[in-house]
Order: sequence, then structure tokens, then C-alpha cells
Amino acid sequence: MKGLGEMERKVKFATKCVHAAEKPDPVFGAHTTPIFQTSTFIFENVSQGTARFAGEEAGYVYARIPPNTPTHAVLAEKFAELEGGETGQTFASGMAAITAIALTSLRQGDHLISTDVVYGCTYSLFSQVLPGLGIEVSFVDTSETENVRQAFRPETKMVFLESPANPTLTVCDITEIAGMAKENGALCVVDNTFSTPYFQRPLELGADLSLSSCTKYIGGHADLLGGIAAGSKDFMNRMSSIVGYTGGIMGPHEAWLCIRGLKTLHIRMERHAENAMKIAEFLESRPEVEWVRYPGLPSHPQHELASKQMSGFSGMLSFEIKGGIEAGRKLMDNVKLCSLAVSLGATDTLIQHPASMTHACVPCSVRRSVGITDGLVRLSVGIEASEDIIADLEQALEAI
Ligand code: PLP
Repeated sequence: MKGLGEMERKVKFATKCVHAAEKPDPVFGAHTTPIFQTSTFIFENVSQGTARFAGEEAGYVYARIPPNTPTHAVLAEKFAELEGGETGQTFASGMAAITAIALTSLRQGDHLISTDVVYGCTYSLFSQVLPGLGIEVSFVDTSETENVRQAFRPETKMVFLESPANPTLTVCDITEIAGMAKENGALCVVDNTFSTPYFQRPLELGADLSLSSCTKYIGGHADLLGGIAAGSKDFMNRMSSIVGYTGGIMGPHEAWLCIRGLKTLHIRMERHAENAMKIAEFLESRPEVEWVRYPGLPSHPQHELASKQMSGFSGMLSFEIKGGIEAGRKLMDNVKLCSLAVSLGATDTLIQHPASMTHACVPCSVRRSVGITDGLVRLSVGIEASEDIIADLEQALEAI
């Protein structure tokens, strides 16, 4: 922060969104963090280059190798401040973040416990790619903590949680499960994409790592791909070689867009959540709707737990129309203001069908067994006027 001194530790989340990690540009005094659009960095002499490569001197080397560029470093530090972590690391996408974390933590013969309902590509990475490397994966309904306890083996090295989960919005007890992971010598990683650090801070709940797809709420405007993680310096140091060797690096312009996105995170998240609550209540009141899942609704099976570990319920919800997929398809084809598109966390409302889109890569039998029904419709509620989103959904419901 800009020389706030003692104030730095005390300031509120909103002030951190705006100021954390931002330093005045020492060369020209630019007010905003510059985009360091460079692939490489000049060394003063061979000794300095040697020391940087050996990790004996802090500084930049080459944009693929952490800390990448000063733009990336500001974003990583800002995000770490918001999550309450020691440090952070940026990536080309949320999936690049999950891949680098898995490759850092797991070796042949190791075992991973994962929430059974996770983003479709995370499921595919865990069920198809990791087993090919000799890593066994157990998918567990983590909303029942006892299931997690029973899944531990001596070889378990990592527990991966998605809470609230995509797309069922199932919630798990991060504190309890993180405690179990610690007892068993395993790393507890939370995909915090749906909540963002504004509503949920997994590290404060005991997890070791919190990650987000920046493509969603962090960037916030559906105009970039990125990923980010916060945690201990020790883990990030261990991960830096995997990051450098695999090269799933965020571009400097994307890093800058994420810094800009984070400055308004607190305001956007408030509006996303306020709108989502109104829309969840509206949908729940409609006779055409079979069920609605939103952690803020008292009807959500883990509403009490969500109220305990989240300070708000974010902007994601799912529902099913009576008449299942055919009725849902008509609704999705009839919306006018909402966009029929995957991804989430944008300023505008996005609607999509997980069974044929984001989770089409999950086998049908698995989808059905974990509650991703064929008729489930997912809504990423935007920051438009809630009345307009409701009016759009209302006319689409009436057109079924
Ligand atoms: N985690 C969650 C919960 C997601 O919903 C997504 C994408 O939708 C990802 C991770 C992957 O993020 P990205 O698309 O940035 O790779």
C-alpha cells in the first residue's frame, strides 16, 4: 500500500481491494500499476543473473518464471492480502492453477480426496489425467464430513474441496475437513471461485491453499482467462518450479485487468449477492419451478453451515423447472436479457445447462448420482437491476 504504515494491517477489506499491494511507480510516478509487457529482464552483470537463477537474489528473471513480472507480483500480493495468505501465485487459468497445485502436491502412489461435485474440467483432470500418473482419486460427498474421515488412507496427500460446489451449490464444512487433513498430514485446498475472498476466506477457516478462477468474479467482466492461488510462502516456493516448467502463465495485460477487477470486488459481490437472493426467492415462489438451490435460502440443505462460514452467499444459484430438461431448454431458449453462456461471475446474468455444457464431460451416471440432474439450470446472477432480471425470467417461464 502507498505508505499507510501502521494503518496497513488494520484497514478493512474494501480498502484492501482498492489499495493493497499497489505502490507508486518509482520511475514515472504512474498512479496505477503499470503493465510490464516484457518477456525478459536485464541483469546488471553475470553475477546478478547467476544469483537470480540460483534463487539467491530476489528479482525478476523471465516472465514464465515466478514472480513473473512486477504486474503479476502486485496481483499475487493483493489477492494474498484479501485471502489472508502469506503470498500468492497467478496462472493462465483456473485449471492451470489446479494443475500446478496437484503436480506440486501429488506423486505416483499418492491419493487425493476430492469433493464429488466439482467443475467439469476439474473432474476430468482428477478422474482421467491424475490416475494416468499413478495418483488415485476418491470422489466423496464432502457435505457429510464423516465421508471424508472414512476416505483417508496413509497415502492421502491432498483434500480438494469446492464449496459452494459447481453447479449444485452444495456446501462443506471447511474448518472440520481442514482439521482432518492436518491430522492426516494432507494438504487442504479449496476452490473458492464461487464465493471469492469477499464472502469466504478458506485460509482463515484452516485450509492450506485457496484458489480462484480469475476468469470469474476476480476479473469480473468476462473479458479474460486467469487463475490465482494464495497460501504459504513455503508452498509457493515449492510450486514455483512446476509453474516455470509447465508454463501456464497469465499474460501481463490479464494481470493488470485482474488488479483493476479486484478494486471493485467488494461492491460487485454485494450486488451479485443481493440480486441472487431476490431471484432465488422469486424462483422459489413460482409454480413452474420444482426446486431452487441457493446457500442463502433457508431451504438449502446446508444453509446453517453456509451462514457460519460465509459472510454472504454470492451470485450463483441453480434450479429445476417442472417438466425437467424439456421445460428448462424452453426457458433457456426464451430468455432475452440473460445470456445463454457458460462461465460465471460476469457483470451480466448468464444462464446455462450443466448436463450438456460445463459438466457434459462428467459421465451421465456420475452426474445423476451427485445431483447434477438433467433438468438442472445454472444461473450466474449479474449486477443489472434485479427487477429486469426477474422480468426476463418471468416472461421466459410464461413462454414454457
Ligand atoms: N473452478 C470453478 C469452480 C469453475 O467454475 C471453473 C470454470 O468454470 C474453474 C475452476 C476453471 O477456471 P478457468 O475456466 O479459468 O480455467
